[in-house]
Amino acid sequence: MIARRQTVAVNVGGVNIGSAHPIVVQSMTNTDTANAEATAMQVAQLARAGSEVVRVTVNTREAAAAIPEIVRRLADLGLSVPLVGDFHYNGHILLREYPETARLLAKYRINPGNVGAGQHHDANFATMIEVAREYDKPVRIGVNWGSLDQQVLARLMDENTAAGSPKSGTDVMIDAMVVSALESAQYAEQLGLPHDKILISVKVSSAPELWQVYRQLAAKCDYPLHLGLTEAGMGMKGMVATSVALAPLLTEGIGDTIRVSLTPEPGASRKLEVEVAQQILQSLGLRQFLPQVTSCPGCGRTTSQFFQELAQKIQDYIRDAMPEWKGRYPGVEDMQVAVMGCIVNGPGESKHANIGISLPGTGEDPRAPVYQDGKLLTTLKGPRIAEDFQALLEKYVQERYGRDQPVAG
Ligand code: SF4
Repeated sequence: MIARRQTVAVNVGGVNIGSAHPIVVQSMTNTDTANAEATAMQVAQLARAGSEVVRVTVNTREAAAAIPEIVRRLADLGLSVPLVGDFHYNGHILLREYPETARLLAKYRINPGNVGAGQHHDANFATMIEVAREYDKPVRIGVNWGSLDQQVLARLMDENTAAGSPKSGTDVMIDAMVVSALESAQYAEQLGLPHDKILISVKVSSAPELWQVYRQLAAKCDYPLHLGLTEAGMGMKGMVATSVALAPLLTEGIGDTIRVSLTPEPGASRKLEVEVAQQILQSLGLRQFLPQVTSCPGCGRTTSQFFQELAQKIQDYIRDAMPEWKGRYPGVEDMQVAVMGCIVNGPGESKHANIGISLPGTGEDPRAPVYQDGKLLTTLKGPRIAEDFQALLEKYVQERYGRDQPVAG
């Protein structure tokens, strides 16, 4: 069991973020927010994939004006996922000019490095906090290494130069990110925003630096932390980099909500970032989102691609069925399914799963024993092994997790 770092709970449009609550999966759209139809469709896609909070950029008057329409469209689809507004440079203007948008957004993201320079910095920041107080909204103080508050950085650089044994430039930058986040949070509280209306993130794009900055931050406050590796990249690189970056911190109990910042392949669905976030939490045993399919890697003992195809088919089948299963079959997300390539490890692994199949390997009898709750249920043969196993799986789910069904096993 991973012990979470103790943090206060922040209510984001009905979703609680803090150590007393499950780690929240969130995501962000990449549509032009001013295009209400496209944005609502993408928010819906992300929410249906399991994103519990969705952030949208609010960068122009058109984008701010589109928020009520986006919320309306989502309501028509039966969705009430909390929307977070991502503000840079002009948030103080947009939140004041579009009160309905300020009312409908569940949280405002404020980047202290992008609220204006010099004398305007504090005034613009204060305006956004004032609006948050007025509408009873939480804020995320979201520091990013690429837009770090230059005044804070310059101050810490000067202090470092004056120090007896100066730190490296990277260490000073990390200190500056933590200072910028905590001083901004403190200022927000001085302006009257309650302690439990503040979340913090300090994002960098390198895993070791992320560990350093979040460990420092975690030791210095009890605000809930939004965890993510910024600019993680595309495809496999982005998924591996994010997993490597987030896992040690999550294992230490650091992180109350996560986002996986993947650059999608051209034309690819945005929901991959939600699926990866879920898989990270599920792999660490922090949350269960969908039944786990255990499949062996395959080796020279497998006869064909058949078992890989079956493993893929079962995985897709479960993912597609989950939105419906979740409501009808409570606890189904804890189910374990095994799809194994031959009898060397197949029956053993299948016996440990709720339901498992062991396909025939090279030179083995063309039969596939199926185990259910540790016992041999049947042996499948013939060309429809995949379909027959899928039917057994569906029947198992109904009998084991159906509310009105007797509990099997
Ligand atoms: S279960 Fe069989 S096919 Fe799969 S990896 Fe092990 S020996 Fe190879």
